[in-house]
Amino acid sequence: MSRSGIRFDHVSVAYGGNTVLDGLDLTVEPGEVMALLGPSGSGKTTALRAVAGFVRPASGRVFIGDRDVTALPPHQRGIGMVVQQYALFPHLRVEDNVAFGLKAQKAPKSEIPGRVAEALEMTGMAAYAERYPRELSGGQQQRVAIARALAIRPNVLLLDEPLSALDAQLRSGMLAELARLHRELPDVSILYVTHDQVEALTLADRIAVMDKARLQDCGTPQELYRRPRTEFTASFVGNANLLPVTVGSGTVSFAGTQLKVPTAEA
Ligand code: ADP
Repeated sequence: MSRSGIRFDHVSVAYGGNTVLDGLDLTVEPGEVMALLGPSGSGKTTALRAVAGFVRPASGRVFIGDRDVTALPPHQRGIGMVVQQYALFPHLRVEDNVAFGLKAQKAPKSEIPGRVAEALEMTGMAAYAERYPRELSGGQQQRVAIARALAIRPNVLLLDEPLSALDAQLRSGMLAELARLHRELPDVSILYVTHDQVEALTLADRIAVMDKARLQDCGTPQELYRRPRTEFTASFVGNANLLPVTVGSGTVSFAGTQLKVPTAEA
């Protein structure tokens, strides 16, 4: 698999004359996790959808690696995408849901079972291959959605609030799972939309802060929290007490909440 980053080159999107993404310039390096953090309606999902190919920019260009993908249909972009509500097909078994993207991509038929099994293995869902989505919990359905995205061996993984439909306990478990997957897939660039600072701080190498259709700030968590460049960032991210503090092997603490992050060996 080649390493590809994502580049937004002055991307604007409008709906009915209303600009909802205004001249976004942003680069996600190959293998980097970039969180898009901001309040509801700030344009985060629109930015993600512009990379996925579900929305056509009014102006500007989107690159994946060296390729200008602005005019390419979604299935030719080499991306995997996971959204909040899983979006599994209810009438298909887990393995057929995971195979779906591979078939859409016209992967060789002989490769499909092996790649489905590999993706289900990575997300801990191998034992559920023959179940239907309705027979799974919310967290399990989201794992299947992640397996479906991984099965195509994407260069770029787009995650849109993937944990927000889960309860708090499941969410912190899945957050740790995503951190593990990122370590196992060091070449995959991840764009992670969230309004949750803990998620952004746990997973992201850098955080892009959005408000009112514009990029307000971008930097490592340390940079943003210690030296916010705009007033909006300062008020939105709050104070540096939120920064994660390592409190033991594989455990970090956010403002008093401890979270276990599995080590590479775990
Ligand atoms: P966020 O992900 O930050 O919550 P979105 O990118 O979903 O923000 O939305 C940004 C703005 O664009 C919002 O005001 C939203 O109502 C509007 N919007 C999003 N999708 C559409 C659409 N398909 N048609 C019209 N307006 C839309």
